[in-house]
Amino acid sequence: MITIEEARRIILSAIHPLGGEEVPLLQALGRVAAEDVVSPWDIPGADHSAMDGYAFAFASLSAGPLAVCDVIHAGASRDEPVPKGCAVKIMTGAPIPPGCDTVVPVEDVRLERERIFLRGEVRLGDHIRRRGEDVTAGARVIPAGALLRPQEIGMLSSLGRTAAQVFRRARCGVLSTGDELLQPGSIPQPGKIINSNSYSIAAQLLEAGGEPVMLGIARDDREETRRKIGEGLQADLLITTGGVSVGDRDFVREALLDLGGEIRFWKVAMKPGKPVAFAMVRGKPVFALPGNPVAAMVAFEQFVRPALLTLMGHTQILRPVVRGVLTEPVRNRGERPHLVRVAVRLAEGRYQVAATGEQGSARLSSLTSGNGLVKLPPDTALAAGSEVEVQLLDRHFEMGAP
Ligand code: AMP
Ligand code: MG
Repeated sequence: MITIEEARRIILSAIHPLGGEEVPLLQALGRVAAEDVVSPWDIPGADHSAMDGYAFAFASLSAGPLAVCDVIHAGASRDEPVPKGCAVKIMTGAPIPPGCDTVVPVEDVRLERERIFLRGEVRLGDHIRRRGEDVTAGARVIPAGALLRPQEIGMLSSLGRTAAQVFRRARCGVLSTGDELLQPGSIPQPGKIINSNSYSIAAQLLEAGGEPVMLGIARDDREETRRKIGEGLQADLLITTGGVSVGDRDFVREALLDLGGEIRFWKVAMKPGKPVAFAMVRGKPVFALPGNPVAAMVAFEQFVRPALLTLMGHTQILRPVVRGVLTEPVRNRGERPHLVRVAVRLAEGRYQVAATGEQGSARLSSLTSGNGLVKLPPDTALAAGSEVEVQLLDRHFEMGAP
């Protein structure tokens, strides 16, 4: 059986970023730049005052107190040179007028009969934001491949942009399989359970920036499974859950083969999540995830999310791994690496890590009460106080005393 890392390598070698598209600026948030963004101009476009204050020629200070002869508000400008012996009142962001080279803030000045007296020391060039000191014309401000965060969105708008060229969002088919499944909203009946996988998986997709396409439920029938998977291949990527193990009515692998798919692996040495397959079918990546709700979500984290992020141009595709300290012992008696669901707290500047109780692969509560995974090798017991690496699934952790 292959390892998680080998499986991920196989997947990533088959996945390449989708193309780009132009979107309005705010829709570019969280997306990846598909172009180098070059500034058309200097920012600031001229020397500006960095303070509400007075602008003057430093050299004229020696001739005694300066007379205030004009005021320049933000948004205004003065082209006429400021005469010797004069200062102009100037607001933050207003351009420094000709004849001035220094600004002193209002709070450092005493004003008497329209003359200014300086309280402290002043140096030539104080409190001026130089033309181009933030961005120079022609500079590459945002490289292709950068994640567009709020600060990049602000930068793009200051370059005059109202749209950005970004990698396309991946449309991802989500198909559940199983005769026992009822859609949410139904009343549970004997032998039936509610299809939660479609929703947990779609939510994981949305969280990672993908676009879920809900394909509903395929009954445990080879023909129906093949048909629904075939429909799902219109998306950029397809995810199925269930029906990929060794049960009498597990038809997902057969359906993939019927469609001419090439199964690149089936079964990975991990718990939960062993019965998982990855196939390329008509050029599209298909992830056949296990049916058990925790196994499906954990397998999504290990395999689908990195692939999805790669499709959408991201280069940082793995969850952050942090080191933490176990507050209770953990043990893996099995022969596969166990991805233990844990809750991570931040207390006294350290990550404190505890397993989320019973770890059955059908117990969704082992995930709802946690925010991380610890990979425990086979036949391993760790005592409380041991250091472990935690894959942080989210940063919604309880904060203890600093
Ligand atoms: P399977 O691999 O199809 O045998 O499914 C394994 C287990 O996962 C069974 O107990 C199923 O009832 C459960 N399961 C399968 N699909 C879903 C789903 N969409 N939502 C919740 N549980 C599921
Ligand atoms: Mg099934």
